[in-house]
Amino acid sequence: MSEGKILVVEDEIPIRMLIHFNLQRSNFDVIEASTGKEAMKIVHEQNPSLVLLDIMLPDMNGFEICTKLRVSHPGLPIVIVSARSQDMEKIMALELGADDYVVKPFNPLELVARIRSVLRRTNQSPQKQIVNKLQSGPYFLDTKTQQLYKREKLLKLRVREYQLMKLLLERKGEPIPRNELLDKVWGVNYFGDPKTVDVHIRRLREKIEDDPSHPVFLITVWGFGYCFRESEIISNEIEN
Ligand code: CA
Repeated sequence: MSEGKILVVEDEIPIRMLIHFNLQRSNFDVIEASTGKEAMKIVHEQNPSLVLLDIMLPDMNGFEICTKLRVSHPGLPIVIVSARSQDMEKIMALELGADDYVVKPFNPLELVARIRSVLRRTNQSPQKQIVNKLQSGPYFLDTKTQQLYKREKLLKLRVREYQLMKLLLERKGEPIPRNELLDKVWGVNYFGDPKTVDVHIRRLREKIEDDPSHPVFLITVWGFGYCFRESEIISNEIEN
């Protein structure tokens, strides 16, 4: 599957070919333009995921194109590629709203890495979705309705128990310090004892574990805090 469609705006054919080759090899679709006018037209018609922009072009300069694109396509990531290495040029590009600036000659692998980083940062990938369902083993937490199910049976949780459960499930498999649980669930301004956490964990276990005095999911990490085990199978393996 393609990682995205990159428009390469560059008038020097060998450089354009080099970039094209490296991007294609890294799973990107590539479209090319050799002038500013052509670039503007392609952006409107083909909706690329990112524009790689040279500064010195025959008809207009990259800064001008960058300014225009920022107005017409505010969310479109732009990476400037230029032979000019002066700091002022770089600052100007970033001031005009470019997302990154790469100086020629560049390492093609670095260029690809930077493009990926900009795409990640600007969230062009469709995988950015709000997670409102957390699942582990027999548990299913719907954060929209704030309801916890165990094998389709609804378990009634109090507010703090729900918040603890949510945090533990979000970071399942990772031991979380008691102090962090206290800060995140009760707030940093709460003047309570970390024992408050233990009390609530105990209550939570009574609701979620088959045998609360021998928990297999919500486990204690001695001298540290608590951890939600990834699944029943893993916990059995550790238990044996
Ligand atoms: Ca050029």
